[in-house]
Amino acid sequence: RAKSAGGNRFELADAEADARAITRHGLTTALPAALERGEFFIEYQPLVHLGDGTVHGAEALVRWCHPQHGVLGPDRFIPLAEHTGLIVPLGRWVLEESVRQANFWQERHSDGGPLRINVNLSPTQLHHPQLVAETVDVLERSGLEPRALCLEVTESALIGADDDLLKPLRQLAEMGVDIALDDFGTGYSNLANLRRLPVSVLKLDRSFTQGMQQHPADPVDLKIVEGIVSLAHSLDLAVTVEGVETGAQAEQLRKLGCDTAQGWYYARPGAPDRIHSLLLADAV
Ligand code: C2E
Ligand code: MG
Ligand code: MG
Ligand code: MG
Repeated sequence: RAKSAGGNRFELADAEADARAITRHGLTTALPAALERGEFFIEYQPLVHLGDGTVHGAEALVRWCHPQHGVLGPDRFIPLAEHTGLIVPLGRWVLEESVRQANFWQERHSDGGPLRINVNLSPTQLHHPQLVAETVDVLERSGLEPRALCLEVTESALIGADDDLLKPLRQLAEMGVDIALDDFGTGYSNLANLRRLPVSVLKLDRSFTQGMQQHPADPVDLKIVEGIVSLAHSLDLAVTVEGVETGAQAEQLRKLGCDTAQGWYYARPGAPDRIHSLLLADAV
């Protein structure tokens, strides 16, 4: 009996694994038509100055409104799109759409500094030979100034990057586009290496922000963040923190010298109208 029960458990585990594989396969094959049919949409999450709570920009986060499965987050399909190469046309669409959106905000709120739009780039996009040409083209057609665009690249995508990989990023940086190192602190990169990278922003990973949640915050976490911030500032890099969920975290991170923040405490990712009204209200 015990044996057959064990057998059933294995069968169940196998069935679950099969179901996941089938869904993955189904999602993968559905991606190209989904892009053609316009099933993807973008949510925007505000980036806020920690000093005064004013809106500094927004990060574009893609979602898939799947006809059967409902709204899927990027973690469900970006790896699949990355694997098949569909990330290139999908990423192009995200860039085009969010730059158009940012230009719309910019035209209506030109009184403040440039409102920035942050767009995530996956490793495949980074390796794509047309990255620079296409980005220049999108900016020119939209009229958005290059300095209003920030491209986010994960720290792990740049680990061990050689000059060939860094060249397009350098070209973009020379044009005035900001490059941010996303999920910083999770990739074990060599800190001395930072000098070599054409980045101007460090996005401190959410795991650090979580460490600030305890009362009192873990003193070692505080020291680490303090160290990263002072290193970043000494290299002329701005520091953005992800995943700020409470006012206490925001206050702690502000005291530690972080520049900008993003998280549920301020706003969840949402429709573009939300950013528009935040800009009208002047602060979150
Ligand atoms: P990311 O670039 O690190 O984006 C931040 C993620 O943290 C987002 O998850 C956001 O919704 C979530 N987040 C923001 N504030 C909070 C908070 O206070 N608490 C918690 N728990 N989470 C928070 P999301 O939207 O699911 O995106 C996941 C990842 O998918 C992104 O991580 C990014 O790496 C990738 N991604 C999203 N859009 C794109 C895209 O257009 N292209 C590419 N290549 N990757 C994308
Ligand atoms: Mg990001
Ligand atoms: Mg991030
Ligand atoms: Mg992250």
